[in-house]
Amino acid sequence: MPAGKMLRAGAPRAICLAVGLWMGAAAAAAPPSVGACGPDKLGVSRTLSLNTQGGFEAGLKTYPRTLALADHEIVLTFDDGPASGSTAKVLDALAAECVKATFFLIGRNAQSLPRLVRREIAEGHSVAHHTFSHPAATLRRLSEAAAKADIDRGFAADDKAAYGAPGAEPRVKFFRFPGFADTPELDAWLASRNIAIFGADVWASDWLPMSPKDELALILSRLEQTKGGILLMHDIKAQTAAMLPDLLRELKQRGFHIVHIQQGDDPPPLRAAPSGWTSETEKIISQIFSQESAQKSRGAAGKGGAEKAAIPQIPEGSGAARP
Ligand SMILES: [Zn+2]
Repeated sequence: MPAGKMLRAGAPRAICLAVGLWMGAAAAAAPPSVGACGPDKLGVSRTLSLNTQGGFEAGLKTYPRTLALADHEIVLTFDDGPASGSTAKVLDALAAECVKATFFLIGRNAQSLPRLVRREIAEGHSVAHHTFSHPAATLRRLSEAAAKADIDRGFAADDKAAYGAPGAEPRVKFFRFPGFADTPELDAWLASRNIAIFGADVWASDWLPMSPKDELALILSRLEQTKGGILLMHDIKAQTAAMLPDLLRELKQRGFHIVHIQQGDDPPPLRAAPSGWTSETEKIISQIFSQESAQKSRGAAGKGGAEKAAIPQIPEGSGAARP
């Protein structure tokens, strides 16, 4: 897409600035959408147009590599939408600070709310994929055929909502596994279709109920530790939509920069994890699966098995699919 080339390397910000200066010089009344994108806004500092040929995996929570971002650079990602109410608020907050994000859609939500998907496209965001039904048990507990079918149905539903009709392959070849629960077979299958798999470097833990203020403090403390990275939030969460305007202002104040990712022609800049890396999500998933098995066997043995207490949540929210 020519638009992809145009948007590369900070062009949106440059355009905002240039138009703003011209409007100022002409002493004309700037339309709100143009005048709003001045240097006081967070903006997009650069755009990565990623070539996904052969696939790749990025995100240190799950994979031993991630996008090679500079210090204090952040890629904003939102999962599980669209949802009525909260997604529009998220889009308003992003527009108010002139930033772009990537939305990993649940296909059945896209099917229900295509207008929000088209708004995401119209406002310059990337529409990526997160299965059709976001199975609560994760794709890992489906048969390989059922998992592939859910992924493909998601691609088709997302792209139909976004562009009017699905192609043979998704337009934007970015995918994220629900709960980060991938399998070697599915990873290889996606790679064979030139689809990149995104994990996350930092997450909001917004699958847990908390106040917007607490969520803001948590995200900021994590970003100060990691110095940026691929940030995962959920646009279906009211608490996230509520805190997003404050988060974006705070990121500006603290000197963070937003990197937008889109499908394109540039080789993906990847960096390896530091030595000693282990997968955080794999540990959590194993823990959950083993606790569930233990409970099932206790139940089968007639010992009650009603302990629900300390079951950790699959990161990113196994129950998040319910709109
Ligand atoms: Zn999800």
